[in-house]
Amino acid sequence: MDRMQELCEILNRWAYEYYVLDDPSVPDREYDRLYDELRELERETGTVLPQSPTRRVGGEPVKGFERHTHISRLYSLDKAVTEDELSAFFTRVEKHGAPTYTVEYKFDGLTVCLTYEKGNFVRATTRGNGVEGEDVTAQALTVKSFPLKISYQGTLEVRGEAIIRLSALEKYNAAHPEEQLKNARNAAAGAIRNLDPKVTATRSPEILFYDINYMSENPVASQEEGMEFLRREGFKTYPYFKICKTFDEVTEAIDEIEIERKKIDVLTDGAVVKVNEESVRAEMGYTDKFPRWAIAFKFEAEEAETTVHSVRWQVGRTGKLTPLAEVTPVELAGATVRRATLNNFGDLTKKRVKVGSKVLIRRSNEVIPEILGAVSEEEGGVPVEKPLFCPACHSPVAEVGANLFCTNEECPPRVVQKLTHYCSKNAMDVEGMSEQTLSLFYDRLGVRRFSDLYHLTAENLQGLEGFKEKKIANLLGAVEKSKHIPLDRFLYAIGIGGIGRVAARDLAAFGSLEAIADLTFEELVALENVGEITANAILNYFANGENRAELLRLKEAGVTPFVKEKNVGVFSGETVVLTGTLSSMSRPEAQKLIEEAGGVCANSVSSKVTLVIAGEKAGSKLDKAQKLGIPVVGEEELFARLGRKS
Ligand SMILES: [Zn+2]
Repeated sequence: MDRMQELCEILNRWAYEYYVLDDPSVPDREYDRLYDELRELERETGTVLPQSPTRRVGGEPVKGFERHTHISRLYSLDKAVTEDELSAFFTRVEKHGAPTYTVEYKFDGLTVCLTYEKGNFVRATTRGNGVEGEDVTAQALTVKSFPLKISYQGTLEVRGEAIIRLSALEKYNAAHPEEQLKNARNAAAGAIRNLDPKVTATRSPEILFYDINYMSENPVASQEEGMEFLRREGFKTYPYFKICKTFDEVTEAIDEIEIERKKIDVLTDGAVVKVNEESVRAEMGYTDKFPRWAIAFKFEAEEAETTVHSVRWQVGRTGKLTPLAEVTPVELAGATVRRATLNNFGDLTKKRVKVGSKVLIRRSNEVIPEILGAVSEEEGGVPVEKPLFCPACHSPVAEVGANLFCTNEECPPRVVQKLTHYCSKNAMDVEGMSEQTLSLFYDRLGVRRFSDLYHLTAENLQGLEGFKEKKIANLLGAVEKSKHIPLDRFLYAIGIGGIGRVAARDLAAFGSLEAIADLTFEELVALENVGEITANAILNYFANGENRAELLRLKEAGVTPFVKEKNVGVFSGETVVLTGTLSSMSRPEAQKLIEEAGGVCANSVSSKVTLVIAGEKAGSKLDKAQKLGIPVVGEEELFARLGRKS
């Protein structure tokens, strides 16, 4: 028995190091050896201690979930989506004195509540309706980021969010192509509320703890103490936890979360602001639904559910046919969405999207959101037919892998898309030259080539609907301005296959279009961002007579790409991150000075960063820099290097 106790203690400590601290002190096989020894002893004696890690396997499937009444009600939080609503919350709180606030991430998973009695874990339940939840003890036991034994001897209920890390979701989906989990929230809820704990275990959920719901003795006096208690007792918590004194500090922390949350491995949908002190909380109390002393600041939804009504095909600049779905209008990220895209024909089958399917859509960097996949298969859903001919020009369609292509180089929407890309912001940046305008010019003025744009005249445009004098002048001015453009933008604009903005920058370093046209295959693939396929595309592009003629026409029209002189100065060769508040100038101003002195500014700390300049109240970036051993200097050093007085 003593040996069993000892083994439990050692194994639980190692599991804590591994799952909670993410810092194991022994190799896995050492853990396995002692684990096997414990299992053997348990078999011999027929006893399993309550804290035994062997309980974590989860046991047999259950027939149904038992209902369980929480000792203390689990409230949900009132929500704010605007700064005004948040400010109203502060006004209400400040009537009860000047407390401090805590700001934390709001994770998007399934809320669970764990009960402990006399130091032992006894039960896990879902939040349910707040009063009553479902017993998910067997499922929760497969999660290893909480202790089975704690030092606190009273009755305790702690609250956490069961989540599945985005990386774990990706891994799971890669290993289970036949059973794709749509998003991390549904995956976490589905894992915990699965009748078979073995299924729960395969999805590797974790629980991040953030609250104490009930303590029979020595209750904590603040949220801060509560978090310290949780950490001390071995519960996994998320490292970000901020204590703020003012409204400004809170909004700053929320802004920080809004940016950082896109980079972290856990799905989040907001930030939670709580009054720190229990004394103030007690005074403020509860409404019939919410505590008055806490609020969830929700960021705009990034995902929504809707139904596919029809699918049509769009022809892109490479001739690729992209499925575009008309969907039931739905609110997403503050806009009404009516259409959503998929990558290609193969995607329709892979994501099981049919006409009539309920689908999950996600806001993307593109204008039109993308379809993540079908949520459920509706009865009578109609599969989308594979087009044999281009919907725009009726030329035969070619199938390459999962993609379909229109085989006609002169397919009208394809030409318009090429022109649109040429004029787009990151390319030639011809302001006002939208897809719609170019489509009109294609139809009415016969614009086909890039060079045609430079022969447009005021007389040409006058007859067109909606083109008044001012608009015409602006548009022609923008066309004129685009003649003088950095070479990398020009290379990106002309749309050579595989040349994105990064590869375009590599190529522009050769100084001129002529020099690039002379590069050999070997010279091209030697570039960091050019692979064999792109190298061939570049060679083919310059070998093509029509392309060479077009480049000549552009040159004759006055398009003269130039190469930017590289800034040289005291920051040459440095990649710099600015963090915190600088006292004498804004961050963009400092960034400009660094770039003028030859440096490159980055937004986040990575191993490529060579220097971090930290102002007042520098946060997580500073921690990360220190962890990576990147030199950190203050504002004075920046000015000293620039030879300025601060
Ligand atoms: Zn076509």
